[in-house]
Amino acid sequence: MRFWRPHRRRRDPLVCREFVELVSDYLDATLPRHERARFEAHIAECDGCAGYLEDMRRLIGSLHDLPDPPSDPTTRAVLLRAFRDLRGQP
Ligand SMILES: [Zn+2]
Repeated sequence: MRFWRPHRRRRDPLVCREFVELVSDYLDATLPRHERARFEAHIAECDGCAGYLEDMRRLIGSLHDLPDPPSDPTTRAVLLRAFRDLRGQP
């Protein structure tokens, strides 16, 4: 599975880090509207985060396809943390 591809353009790493923090809220549709707009604007101009979002979508989708999906938020938090570690976030 492809987890992350390098940024083609150099972006503010703080924005990208924030993106990773917000991605689960975005996919849960719990992100406030103004944050959501900022988030989508970032996807439009950051290939790395767009790819990351796709991977998260696929991951969460594949969890839903399991016969007995892990429904508790803790499991998902662990997965999100694992993703972050793969990216080499501190
Ligand atoms: Zn980014």
